[in-house]
Amino acid sequence: MFAIGDVVFGQGDPVIIAGPCAIENREQYFAVAQEVKRRGVRVLRGGAYKPRTSPNAFQGLREEGLELIREVKNATGLLIVTEAMDTDTLDAVCEVCDIIQIGTRNMANYSLLKKVGKTGKPVLLKRGFMATIQEFVQAAEYLVKEGNHRILLCERGIRTFETETRNTLDLSAVPLLRMLTTHPVIVDPSHSTGRGDLVIPMTRAALAAGADGVMIEVHPNPRKALCDGVQSLDFAAFGELMDEVNRLLPYLRRDGRP
Ligand code: PEP
Ligand code: MN
Repeated sequence: MFAIGDVVFGQGDPVIIAGPCAIENREQYFAVAQEVKRRGVRVLRGGAYKPRTSPNAFQGLREEGLELIREVKNATGLLIVTEAMDTDTLDAVCEVCDIIQIGTRNMANYSLLKKVGKTGKPVLLKRGFMATIQEFVQAAEYLVKEGNHRILLCERGIRTFETETRNTLDLSAVPLLRMLTTHPVIVDPSHSTGRGDLVIPMTRAALAAGADGVMIEVHPNPRKALCDGVQSLDFAAFGELMDEVNRLLPYLRRDGRP
């Protein structure tokens, strides 16, 4: 359990992290930030640096994105989570965010993990898409070894033979990680399924399995998104998700682990 300001991770109500996959421009980022805030969200996601499979895909607004993060944070007071992809840009990312995201492709980048551990900033560590639970737990130990204990473990799906979904959401990771570590465990139903129509049911399932939170991709117009539109929720669908989460809250066991 740890808190950033009055947002508590790992105790009490699960934390909903939401925002665009990538920060695309001022209008898009502000619109999502204001909408998710209106729905009760207190932690905003969104990448300035995007790890894309194709070098020809949109790579993020980079420094310009960091500037927009600064503006949105000042304007909304939301906590910011954004990805640090390498040691070159880590300091600049650290300056604007409240939580550093380490993506699935970097879970086993041990030199990056050591540097991130030294920053002392809370970390959202995503499970490598080819990593076992033990490898994931040991990646988190790299951060702990540098004195950083404020870690959110994020199950974001693993690669299997299934092609209907982008990845396979390993929900058993939730209770397992809660047994094996003391870190809060969150689930990313967006990347694990790759399908907007599966995000609400898998959010329900994640919370029922004991997740301490979920991270959801939201876009004003998913069909026009520069990144991950197929799995992003529009504002109406995100509203439905929040209504469902709020309905579930009284039934979730939030008293101890797992
Ligand atoms: C993301 O959350 O924006 C992302 C790139 O996720 P992952 O590293 O899990 O693919
Ligand atoms: Mn994405």
